[in-house]
Amino acid sequence: MQFMSAEWLADVVIVGGGSCGSVLAARLSEDPSLEVCLLEAGADDEHWYVDVPMGLALTVPTKIFNWGFLTEPQPGLGGRRGYQPRGKGLGGSSSINAQIYIRGHASDYDHWATLGNPGWSWNEVLPYFVKSENNERFVDAFHGQGGPLNVAHARSPNPFAQRMIDAALAQGLPPVEDFCGAHDEGVGWYQMTQENGERCNVARAYLRRLKGKRTNLRIVTRARALGLSFDGSRATGVQCLIGDQKIHVRGRRQVILCAGAFQTPQLLMLSGIGAPDDLAAAGVKTRLALPGVGRNLQDHLDCALAYRSKAPGLIGIGRGLGLKGLQGAREYRLRRSGMYSSNANEAGAFVRTLPDLPAPDVQLVFAHALSENHGRTLRWGSGFAGHACVLHPYSVGRVSLSSNDPLQAPKIDPAFLSDERDLETLLRGVKLVKRVLESKTLHDGPPKPLLEDPIDSDDDLRAFIRNHADTLYHPVGTCRMGEDPMAVVDAKLRVHGVPGLRIVDCSVMPTVPGGNTNAPAVMIAERAVEFIQNDLQGDESR
Ligand SMILES: Cc1cc2nc3c(=O)[nH]c(=O)nc-3n(C[C@H](O)[C@H](O)[C@H](O)COP(=O)(O)OP(=O)(O)OC[C@H]3O[C@@H](n4cnc5c(N)ncnc54)[C@H](O)[C@@H]3O)c2cc1C
Repeated sequence: MQFMSAEWLADVVIVGGGSCGSVLAARLSEDPSLEVCLLEAGADDEHWYVDVPMGLALTVPTKIFNWGFLTEPQPGLGGRRGYQPRGKGLGGSSSINAQIYIRGHASDYDHWATLGNPGWSWNEVLPYFVKSENNERFVDAFHGQGGPLNVAHARSPNPFAQRMIDAALAQGLPPVEDFCGAHDEGVGWYQMTQENGERCNVARAYLRRLKGKRTNLRIVTRARALGLSFDGSRATGVQCLIGDQKIHVRGRRQVILCAGAFQTPQLLMLSGIGAPDDLAAAGVKTRLALPGVGRNLQDHLDCALAYRSKAPGLIGIGRGLGLKGLQGAREYRLRRSGMYSSNANEAGAFVRTLPDLPAPDVQLVFAHALSENHGRTLRWGSGFAGHACVLHPYSVGRVSLSSNDPLQAPKIDPAFLSDERDLETLLRGVKLVKRVLESKTLHDGPPKPLLEDPIDSDDDLRAFIRNHADTLYHPVGTCRMGEDPMAVVDAKLRVHGVPGLRIVDCSVMPTVPGGNTNAPAVMIAERAVEFIQNDLQGDESR
């Protein structure tokens, strides 16, 4: 490939305009004296695929706004390759996610602090969740009003979701009104990152209103970072591919990686920062030995049971879909309500599957649609599904380089079910889903499971899990913070041994929080803004 070369200059260069990158670009450029350049590999997010909540049915199974990665074959999943959708474009994964607004359990963050990360305990991170939020319903110490990220209940709550909640209550789960309040244990309606019936992805929340208005903020889409540049040990910029042009974007004061849990470690490794053996295997010369890069991959493994049903309100492919779809489109166009305003996953639960656990170990998600294989396998008919996922997995995987070509996908090995304890947790969760979803109140006759595998005994269910479980889309931890030899960043998110370089995305999480990860990503970025501003004011530079 031939490249014309060029150089751009900014004070701060941010790689990746996803959940975290969007927050940083907006907040840091509030200072008009600071030139900020945001590089995003994908496209602008202003598109109906992103804005319409139900658009996820098109983006998640395809490569539209989605990198659509595959994992290495997973021995724990019967040798299957897992699917790893990741958002590509402004807003990143928040542009294709299910919009569920959850923070995790307070003890998750207290745990981060006890692992040697001062400043990350629950009481210290709560203000940043609150700062980012505009909650339409809950006004109390746990919630914020006036923040950029709009949080709302479903615009047209699905009646079948209420029936699934009632079935769970009948199984003894306590009701929960606010999963982000004092107690998250029990069943109820999720809140969503939505505004006026449209998806409120993080780019819309933080960036959209600034486009073309802040002269000190340059947002460059379809700009793919290939690796970092250095002056001695200091990171000074990013090599980037824009169209067929190779541009060097120099960051006079900071370079910040926000490329997500798979591509941030990939960029570090491509730049020679990682475990020397791993780098050598991919033909990359070691610049700095940092053995934790790409290790500690943690993710929520999920398994769903789905049932066929013709109950009203359920979504599916079948006769009448055309008419329903047109009516839905009309309602959505006129009122931003109806089936297209839904994420199809409106309700759920957090449960302790063993009584002596200190916090919920399983999350349930109830879908009023038939779902199989991330929506990649389409089935005729309508129905509903219940998901269970392992909130605090013991299985730990890794990301490594598949080659030294920056345009190749990284090698992703979540090592799902490499620790048998996760299988037993998931088994308890799936058994609960089965009890709830096979309640007589949800069926006209005997339940009709979508998949024909036997699910009568525990061993059947264990085999079912190995044959069908996959990610709930929350990979984290591959550049985790800490002070030990396997840590990649310190508690202020500075890369150990590389002045001028920070990481701000889900890769810095020491452990995966017990819940969905978008709100935690935004919290991390809000927190990082203060670290970076302090650095730039010279208080903490090193
Ligand atoms: C299908 C799906 C459903 C989900 N559902 C939920 C949910 O309901 N609730 C919830 O809280 N969380 C959910 N999540 C998870 C949540 O959205 C993510 O954890 C969060 O968005 C991650 O933020 P991030 O900033 O770490 O990475 P991302 O938002 O993924 O951002 C990374 C960005 O970097 C860009 N990038 C990557 N490489 C390069 C490069 N070389 N050069 C330039 N740019 C690059 C990417 O294109 C992307 O825009 C879901 C995720 C997915 C994929």
